[in-house]
Amino acid sequence: MDINRFENIKLLALDVDGVLTDGKISYLDDGREIKSFDVKDGAGIKYWLRSGGEVAIITGRESDIVLRRAKELGIKYVYQGAKDKLPRFEELLSTSGFKENEVCYVGDDLPDIPVMRRCGLSFTVDNGVDEAKDVADFTTISTGGNGAVREIIETILKKQQKWDLILKRYF
Ligand SMILES: [Mg+2]
Repeated sequence: MDINRFENIKLLALDVDGVLTDGKISYLDDGREIKSFDVKDGAGIKYWLRSGGEVAIITGRESDIVLRRAKELGIKYVYQGAKDKLPRFEELLSTSGFKENEVCYVGDDLPDIPVMRRCGLSFTVDNGVDEAKDVADFTTISTGGNGAVREIIETILKKQQKWDLILKRYF
């Protein structure tokens, strides 16, 4: 794997269900939904933003929970209801001004594959489907919703020699 593929990455584009969550959606009687996010993923996203990176979300479903989590973490680009992810990915590129090779995309299921094949670097998670694992450049050790995003951010920041700067604040 060419180290440049890591060095070029400026935008981290994430699927939600199965990547930022464990893929489970709980329903309450009143129709509301519950999703659970990992705090270490959230901290990782903050480190990524602090290091000068940007974050995008491209999800097939639609929920206020995602908007709330995105706002909380300072995620600038949010695309929901993306039944086809590739057109939204192209929209993201033109809106953000980033090039394909500057984007790392993380997905766990078939709808993610077209974007995974287009971007500069792609990851899937340990509980991603086999086809996503075949296409992805890397598969995380962690599962979705359980630190996979944190693992990816640490990997990229270490390759970009930026992780030590993050650690400096705490040691
Ligand atoms: Mg998914």
